[in-house]
Amino acid sequence: MKVKILGGHGGVTIGFQATSFLIDDVLLIDAGSVASTLSIEKQSRIDNILISHPHLDHIKDLAFLCDNCFGMRAKPYEVWTHNTVLGLIKHHLFNDTIWPDFSILPTAQNPTIRFNSLTPEKMTEIGGYRVTPVPVKHPSDAMGYIIEKEGKAILFTLDTAATTRIWEKAREFPALKAIFTEVSFPNKLQKVADASDHHTPQTLAEEIKKMPPGVPIILTHLKPNFRGELEQEIAELDEPRVQILQKDGMEFNF
Ligand SMILES: [Zn+2]
Ligand SMILES: [Zn+2]
Repeated sequence: MKVKILGGHGGVTIGFQATSFLIDDVLLIDAGSVASTLSIEKQSRIDNILISHPHLDHIKDLAFLCDNCFGMRAKPYEVWTHNTVLGLIKHHLFNDTIWPDFSILPTAQNPTIRFNSLTPEKMTEIGGYRVTPVPVKHPSDAMGYIIEKEGKAILFTLDTAATTRIWEKAREFPALKAIFTEVSFPNKLQKVADASDHHTPQTLAEEIKKMPPGVPIILTHLKPNFRGELEQEIAELDEPRVQILQKDGMEFNF
């Protein structure tokens, strides 16, 4: 599997795009920057989109993806997420006020986007990938994803504070090749991190102890305005299997 990080940051400014990970050019995880970073031709080649939770930095480019590729595709984008998340995206984004309801455009029979609900912890086959959604600790029934293909698995927590179930579940995948997770705020903002269900380097250090041993950990979602401080605090953890996502556009092959 090829994982291209279209955007891997916890904020948006010049040089920093919000969360969107593209697998093998066809399966997208979160839509924080898919329209801002890919050509329209490449946007139109995506088939399935997994959404972790409805925060704007994970869904905003769904709006522009639909707009860019309207009428270009023979079939709708299939969006997969928790039933709660699906309802919130429809109600608050594609509501014909903030943005047109692309789930009935151009027609209800052949729309631009179609919403499908996923059951937590139930593996679902999506476009040739085995996708297992697992609840994490973040608002609105947020879920992380374990994705398997050809005997290899990759785990994505997306946004979360300290959590347990996804690490238990991860042990059911002996061929786990990488863990993509988050750290958002520096240690001095622990209260903010707790209130918003995110990690700091000190809570991440505890979290790493729960993760399956020996699997590389790639850190994303650092807040751009605290990046220098975060890099220093992460280095002080002295965890050899941890790396920080450096630049958007990086590719990982597993
Ligand atoms: Zn979030
Ligand atoms: Zn986020």
